[in-house]
Amino acid sequence: MGQFKVNRFVSPLLAIRQAMRQACLNVGRDPGSVQLVAVSKTHPAEMVDQVAIAGHSLFGENRVQEAREKMARVQQPGLQWHLIGPLQRNKVKWAVQLFQMIQSVDSVELAQEINRRMPEDRIMPVLLQVNVGGEKQKSGLHPVDLPKVAREVAQLPHLSLQGLMTVPPFTEDPQQSRPFFQTLAELARSTHAMAIPGVSMDTLSMGMSHDFEVAIEEGATLVRIGSSLFGRRDG
Ligand SMILES: *Cc1c(COP(=O)(O)O)cnc(C)c1O
Repeated sequence: MGQFKVNRFVSPLLAIRQAMRQACLNVGRDPGSVQLVAVSKTHPAEMVDQVAIAGHSLFGENRVQEAREKMARVQQPGLQWHLIGPLQRNKVKWAVQLFQMIQSVDSVELAQEINRRMPEDRIMPVLLQVNVGGEKQKSGLHPVDLPKVAREVAQLPHLSLQGLMTVPPFTEDPQQSRPFFQTLAELARSTHAMAIPGVSMDTLSMGMSHDFEVAIEEGATLVRIGSSLFGRRDG
């Protein structure tokens, strides 16, 4: 008999899904309304394959070059990838080929470059990243600029604006993230109320390993989880 190898990602995946489900039930949300983005940054292709074999297919990466090398080595078919980190102009031509969503659009100039680099027959779903904590070192739009940027992005034929993303200031206590998640949800509501043709605000990407339950309670539809699934990052 061959050696039966236990997939080490089954149990954390089940635990995360269960916690996501419970957070939905806490506030009367449909558990099917939130998706997990497994953040595989710094972890090798072999681990992505293992997570895929455990039954998960949506992954997030924050660097184009790292993602490009990793995706070339991943063997499991049919995976989806979201870009969740800062995108430099000179990497856009790669990003549009590698990712099915870009969550980190934070300027009209970047949106225009994505539009310019998209193949004629494709539309890229995007989120606008908002810096809700106003931290100097963090990327993201200032909330005041959101209406103007949303209007301009809506004009670009190869982009489909589907919602907002944020990374709030880190705190040990997940409850401290709550006001920032509430702010992002409120910004999505006010942008939705502008009724910009072709723009949807249905997707709210917020919440990471330490605070995803709070984010779900405040309306997250995508949670981006790295360390509680893959383990600690060295880099
Ligand atoms: C790394 C990263 C995550 C995942 O963080 P964890 O704390 O490991 O869950 C989520 N979002 C972004 C933008 C990241 O860069």
